This record gives sequence, C-alpha cells and structure tokens, in this order.
Amino acid sequence: MSRIALLVSFAALLQLGTAQEKNPGYTDTPVLPDGFRVHDANRPRPKVVDPGPAQKEPGKAPKDATVLFDGSNLDAWQGRKGAAKWKLVDGAMEVTKTGDIRTKQEFGDCQLHIEWMAPPPKGHSQGRGNSGVFFFGRYEVQVLDSYNNPTYADGQAAALYGQKPPLVNATRPPGQWNVYDIVFIAPRFHDDGSVKSRARVTVIHNGIAVQLDEELLGATSHKSLPKYRAHGPKGPIKLQDHGNPMRFRNIWVRPINLDRPKPESK
Ligand code: MG
Repeated sequence: MSRIALLVSFAALLQLGTAQEKNPGYTDTPVLPDGFRVHDANRPRPKVVDPGPAQKEPGKAPKDATVLFDGSNLDAWQGRKGAAKWKLVDGAMEVTKTGDIRTKQEFGDCQLHIEWMAPPPKGHSQGRGNSGVFFFGRYEVQVLDSYNNPTYADGQAAALYGQKPPLVNATRPPGQWNVYDIVFIAPRFHDDGSVKSRARVTVIHNGIAVQLDEELLGATSHKSLPKYRAHGPKGPIKLQDHGNPMRFRNIWVRPINLDRPKPESK
C-alpha cells in the first residue's frame, strides 16, 4: 500500500470512529417487532429531563418489604461461586470486578427499590458506568451512566436492554444517587414450555415514569432478538458486574400477589 493510500485509509478509520462515537449502536442487527433494529444506531434517543429535587431522599422500606441491602452487609447476596465479593463503602456496595451477584432468596412478581450511583465519567457509551438489574437473573433493566453519555437508545439507563428505551432520560450526574422503583410481573409458561403471558415491567426513575407496563419480548440478549426459555415462578435478582465501580444502596423488594379476593358465589 502506498503511503498516501495508507494515510487515506487511516483517516477513513478515524472518521468511522468518530461517527460511531456520535451515533453509537448498530445498523446490521436483527429487526425488533416495532421496526427498529436491536441496539439501533438510528433510533431516536429519549429526551433529557432534569428530575429536580423529586425523590432525592431515599425511599424507605415499607414494613412488609424484604430488605436486600441496608448498607451493613452482603448477607442477602451471593456470587456465582460462593460469597458475594463486592465491597462495602459509605453505606453502599461497590462493584469490584469479581462478577455478578444475586439474591439468595428468589422472587416472582415483585416491586423493587434500588439506588445506584456512577463513578466519575470514564469511557463512553456502554463502557461508562454500566451495570444492570436482572430479574430472574435474565431480564435486565439497564443501569448506565446516561448523563451526557450517548449510547444506543435501547441500551441507556432504565432501558429494557435491547428492547425498549425509557420514555425520557432522567439520569442524574455521576456522583449523585439515582433511584429506581421497578414493578416486575413475571412471565407465565404453559406445561409444554410455550409462553402463556409475557413479563411486564414498570420503571419509575428518580420519580419519573419511564417504562409503563411494557411487555418483554424475552430474556435480555446482546445484538440478537430476545427469546423466552421457560422457567419457574421465582428466580434471583441479579446485579451486573460490567467492570465499572458502580455503587448501590437501599435495596428492598416487596413480593406482589396479583390474586385479589373474589366475591363469594351464592
Ligand atoms: Mg448492563
């Protein structure tokens, strides 16, 4: 290759790099039922909303909640093999590149409160402040530093990863606490493993409704269409170690019983 050709291709590579940084995502992934590609680079990103002072005080656990983390220990959690090895800092737990952690107890339909904070910005797009809350260890509500950090819309904070962007971007800056209140309704399966009803998710992010009873198309996947694989009525809640020192605090969950009393038949 001539020196000029080399320079030209190097310049083209650089340009490709900046184009991807401006518009992160993919243009060659499968198409979702709503017409956008998985992690579509051209899907409009949700507009930014400043959550203001709403919900700045952490939500205290209701009396019937199971407290999963109160700042004092990781007793409710385990690693893939053995004890959870994330560290305790200032009443929070911090990701330590020791792998995902999950609750020892399993949950089905539930309401989860969790607060998270991103470290000072480093990296960009999915490389900055990435973690996630996975129900049944497989359905992710994305945790990401989405404050001035463009990424593909279905991969930003409070997205149902790879499926649904949040309605707006309510992410607080790194160093401030973000609050998620999530209602997760588990999928149901027929005996033959086919889907009887899909999972449904509602997310309130810093007091702002960003996912409203959205149906999940299947388990979270990367660059491919989600699929369901039948499982039982309960599973662990998993927090993702994506290599960034994210912090979590004040985590509690309330199992939800959807069976309402019926009138007595006469
Ligand atoms: Mg994640």
